[in-house]
Amino acid sequence: MYRTHDCNSLRKTDIGKQVSLAGWVHVSRDHGGVIFIDLRDRDGLTQVVFRPEENAEVAKEAHSLRSEDVIEVSGRVAARVPGTENPKLATGDIEVIPNRLRILNRADALPFPIDAEIHNEDLRMTYRYYDLRRLRLARNLRVRHRVAKATRDYLDRQGYVEVETPILSKSTPEGARDFLVPSRLTPGKFYALPQAPQQYKQLLMVAGVEKYFQIAKCFRDEDLRADRQPEFTQIDIEASFVTPDDVFAVTEGMLAAIFKAARSIDIKTPFDRLTYHEAISRYGSDKPDRRFSVQLVDLGENFRSSSFKVFRGALDAGGVVKAINAKGFAGITTGQIEEVTEIARVFGAKGLAFIKVENGEWKSPIVKFFSESEKAALQSKLQVEEGDLILFAADKWEVACEVLGRIRLRVAEIQKLIPGSEIWDFLWVTDFPLLQWSAEENKWNAVHHPFTRPRSDDLPLLDAKKFPEIRAEAYDVVLNGVEIGGGSMRIHEPQLQEKMFEALSVSAEDRQSLFGHLLGALKLGAPPHGGIALGLDRLVMLICGENTIRDVMAFPKNNRGLDLMTHSPADVDPRQLRDLGIKLADGKKLEGRAPLRP
Ligand code: ASP
Repeated sequence: MYRTHDCNSLRKTDIGKQVSLAGWVHVSRDHGGVIFIDLRDRDGLTQVVFRPEENAEVAKEAHSLRSEDVIEVSGRVAARVPGTENPKLATGDIEVIPNRLRILNRADALPFPIDAEIHNEDLRMTYRYYDLRRLRLARNLRVRHRVAKATRDYLDRQGYVEVETPILSKSTPEGARDFLVPSRLTPGKFYALPQAPQQYKQLLMVAGVEKYFQIAKCFRDEDLRADRQPEFTQIDIEASFVTPDDVFAVTEGMLAAIFKAARSIDIKTPFDRLTYHEAISRYGSDKPDRRFSVQLVDLGENFRSSSFKVFRGALDAGGVVKAINAKGFAGITTGQIEEVTEIARVFGAKGLAFIKVENGEWKSPIVKFFSESEKAALQSKLQVEEGDLILFAADKWEVACEVLGRIRLRVAEIQKLIPGSEIWDFLWVTDFPLLQWSAEENKWNAVHHPFTRPRSDDLPLLDAKKFPEIRAEAYDVVLNGVEIGGGSMRIHEPQLQEKMFEALSVSAEDRQSLFGHLLGALKLGAPPHGGIALGLDRLVMLICGENTIRDVMAFPKNNRGLDLMTHSPADVDPRQLRDLGIKLADGKKLEGRAPLRP
């Protein structure tokens, strides 16, 4: 037996006991011949003290110990010398006086100190097996485990069945780019790694499973960002004979169970709901952060006959005039004004009008164009006070809302309005548009995916081809301004699915070759069904208070999609390529890796 206790469990009540501990030498200090070691395992730290007068031989051996050596010690638990207790450490009242030391393994020179903040992420990723020893990351992995377990336990109690779906699946043109896997047995053909088990879970509904879930690996070949990885994990759910309310209830119950299990946090359910239209109109975002109260105010009715041409012109053209009041931000610096104006430009506005309220005066070149009644309307609608900064957008609804939404977030950041304490603001955003126009592809695309159901009251709009007006029975769940999941009711009637493919300009040929299995299944008694998928990595990131999903994944890729630890992606044995019937294009030659096998 290597140990009787972990390194976080000995207390005053254990004084006098004979114990064994095993772990890593966290730090070792030599105080005039007495060696102090903080012994670490995944649970915590315990001080081990080698005193030559107690056991000269063991103390001598302890002299050779270096950080991250792996040892086992057996000895007596003793009270620390009065005055040397460490109240910050759970085991801070005691120490272990060993009569036996076994060096289980030695550590070479360390890539970086384990208890320091390391900003070189590539270095951390190269030595990830070492990086993960750090208590914060070890804690994150455990929180992740508890989240996954609470998910399974909760959904099991609700009658959901976990079903695994294939990783080697089929490429279909929805959403992101696929990762492809060449088939050796069928040369020239490819599997695709699933971007999500969307079609499989719908097929499971046709199969009569009724309540499905899976903690599913998904793969998307996208450009990477702080919260994106080429492979990630979803909590994937689908059920038959349900309405959105049923999906909301099971998701809320599951999230409540997850927060309780992960961090003993009680979250408030049911969550508020906002339609997509309201969310955009009021917050300028389909994932509003409501932890600070600033909202977009509509001024259309007040400026409809204004003599200020910029506002009047936007309204005449069918657009909107909107504003936000950045309370107490009249002191905005020139640099900050430039920054927010740049945000406005990037998101499509021609410029950014603003008013500073200073010394009882409204300071802005545009104020002279406003009538008294327009000023009064601004005053009361935006509750303008001394020290405020009013920012305006006059444009198409989408542009004005997005611009002010982005500025709202940036100004809140600058003004430090986002509370430091933990607030868990959950929200459903419902009634997303079904379709969006892609100027690049010159066609309509599904906002969610091609299997999402239009709202029944909007079905006539589909026949009338009034695509921009059609709302979907689709929803997102948002936490503190981050989209943590999304889903929809699905199309279960083959005719409606055909109509949807038609709207998406999927040719009759492609419908058959790409989606024939689904269309066939819908014709064999498909029940009404719907579901949701939540991003497990992002959820765990928020629960752990981390800023990147990389810190809640054991072996993430870096921001260029590389695994620096195993050096993947990598060259392969040319014979492997030959077996697959694959030749690399010129300029993408193999580096001539030595064959693995003779
Ligand atoms: N499969 C969808 C996604 O990954 C989620 C869903 O509709 O359930 O976004």
